[in-house]
Amino acid sequence: MTEAQLRDAIVEVGRRLYARGYTASNDGNVSARLDAGRLLMTPKNVCKGFMSPDMMVITDLEGRKLAGDRDPSSEMQMHLEVYRQRPDAQAVVHAHPPIATGFAVAGIPLDRAVLAEVITTLGSVPIAEYATPSTKELPAAVRKYVKAHDGMLLANHGALTLGGDLFAAYYKMETIEHFAKISLVARLLGGERLLSREEVDRLQGLRGMYGIAAPAPICPPESGAAARVLGDPAACQTVFAPEGDGARLVPETGEIRLTYAELTALIEAAVRELKS
Ligand SMILES: [Zn+2]
Repeated sequence: MTEAQLRDAIVEVGRRLYARGYTASNDGNVSARLDAGRLLMTPKNVCKGFMSPDMMVITDLEGRKLAGDRDPSSEMQMHLEVYRQRPDAQAVVHAHPPIATGFAVAGIPLDRAVLAEVITTLGSVPIAEYATPSTKELPAAVRKYVKAHDGMLLANHGALTLGGDLFAAYYKMETIEHFAKISLVARLLGGERLLSREEVDRLQGLRGMYGIAAPAPICPPESGAAARVLGDPAACQTVFAPEGDGARLVPETGEIRLTYAELTALIEAAVRELKS
């Protein structure tokens, strides 16, 4: 992509983030590598839904401004950290999509083996520990997970994705929010049935066959019966996928089953919420 095309593409990604409600007001930020030593980035204090190509800021990899009338994004340090840790990352997207951010606020990672597409594209979506936005704490929190994950939730804040090009990073943000929505509905309906570890292994094989790059493998099970395997978040992805005795789907162990009355009340509340 030429610089002009990349400026236009960032405008388009910002428009989509805002149109889909992934950002409110001036939230969120987007950046992309312009060449080996320069980044193109959204400016501070603008609504991402109404940007123009000339607003973008060019910085070096240390965050020094090289060109542009405005100041770079207040979350620039987090973007710089991603580019430092992931030489393969060509673009970074940060937003506050409401359902995924709800999981981030509730402290629930999106790490259950539920959807084949998510297993083959993102793997698991962990939560980086809470850090004050725009401070140096945030890049430090992100550092722990970014080597092995293309997308993560930021505790009590939002979500972060990266990709081999700008739209790949943006689509991962869409996938995270879509996954969060489906997970929420499944939980309201009584809980997910999970893909078994055997099925997850099969999907990982397909990933290789289709040439979908994974930043890291799924953490190996510690023992045959281990359901949730917590590995090193810098080396592998934790995916909650119980052993299935050959079955592809298994009910989640320890799930909370709602009574019919509780479920009805939840659905009625959700419908009222939608109408209000
Ligand atoms: Zn933010």
